[in-house]
Amino acid sequence: MEKILVLAHADDSGASLTRHSLETVTAGQQLAAKLGAELAIGIVGGEAATLAKTLPSTGAKLLAISGEAFKQARYATDAAACEALSRAAAATIVLAPHSARFARVMAGVAHRLGGLIDTHIGTIGGDAAPQASRWFYRQRIEAILARSARPWFLLVDAGSYAAFAGEAGGAAVEAITVETPAVRTTVSGFRAPKQDEQTIRPDAKLLFVAGAGWTKKQPDGQTHVEEAGKLILGFLHGSGASLGSSKSLVDQGSEGNSVLPFLTHLNQVGQTGATPRHPKGLATCCHGEEPHVVGWRFIGQRRAISLDPNCGWTRGKADVVYIADAFQVVAKLNELLAAKK
Ligand SMILES: Cc1cc2nc3c(=O)[nH]c(=O)nc-3n(C[C@H](O)[C@H](O)[C@H](O)COP(=O)(O)OP(=O)(O)OC[C@H]3O[C@@H](n4cnc5c(N)ncnc54)[C@H](O)[C@@H]3O)c2cc1C
Repeated sequence: MEKILVLAHADDSGASLTRHSLETVTAGQQLAAKLGAELAIGIVGGEAATLAKTLPSTGAKLLAISGEAFKQARYATDAAACEALSRAAAATIVLAPHSARFARVMAGVAHRLGGLIDTHIGTIGGDAAPQASRWFYRQRIEAILARSARPWFLLVDAGSYAAFAGEAGGAAVEAITVETPAVRTTVSGFRAPKQDEQTIRPDAKLLFVAGAGWTKKQPDGQTHVEEAGKLILGFLHGSGASLGSSKSLVDQGSEGNSVLPFLTHLNQVGQTGATPRHPKGLATCCHGEEPHVVGWRFIGQRRAISLDPNCGWTRGKADVVYIADAFQVVAKLNELLAAKK
């Protein structure tokens, strides 16, 4: 019989598990129920009992490695912790969030245990034997993977499952001891852009995409790039949306055109860009070309604002298209958002 282990880690505050970890808990619960398998959850962080507060309601066996050395993300300590938890659970299938913290250690952990790993997993199913799916070729081809090798490590993509939310309660957590490996890296602190400057927000409910139209000549024969920048930032500020862009718009900087200074290629959505996951998306001043829309694969409800009634969005790529001037629509939206606050 399979033994399933979900590995989970603390967020930057150290006080809670990351949402992505809780999503992976849901994936583990569903798989364990399907296979009639045992489920264990292994926690890595500073204070395991606090982190495990909502997990008793999963009915899973709780294991933890905690302490000062495991507060911070660091290859040596995280790999040692994940290895020890996998051994303690005698896991045949290990699910872990495909987070920056775990993605970099898990291939090494799988190797230490003589197992195999697959990454960017979207769904885990199968009847008698587990099967995992992931996308290839810019999310155009879906592969269903099955393996007989054990332990099988699966890194689950964010946004693929609902986050587990259970009643908080006293948690009986089994402490696993691990010899702290020799540590060469010390974490001296975080340097991150201010929240307002951070335009990529993976947890946002809405993805707002800006297209090249924002910098093109408008009906008055002039460009209005400065106004466009203010409208877009105003909308992001008011709504908390994440900012995506078309390739044409982010490319303009390198071509010497006037650009929106807060956009980089990291914002680019599409075939040669990102494939973000958000419940809703709003494209503005963007034509809806196929290489761009490829990146909308995991966006739930899609809306677009374009002046062109023949744009790609109107050809079945969006649920709702407003044939309207995005400058006017976003100005009105910002007014409404400001009134709501
Ligand atoms: C191999 C390959 C890979 C590619 N990969 C990507 C990729 O990863 N991501 C990507 O985005 N693109 C990619 N592209 C480019 C893609 O094909 C498109 O050229 C690009 O996405 C178009 O960007 P756009 O819609 O912003 O600009 P445009 O095509 O210039 O469209 C601008 C739109 O804005 C509208 N508009 C203008 N003013 C207003 C206004 N006031 N209100 C409302 N609407 C207005 C116009 O009507 C027009 O529809 C790729 C292309 C190739 C060949």
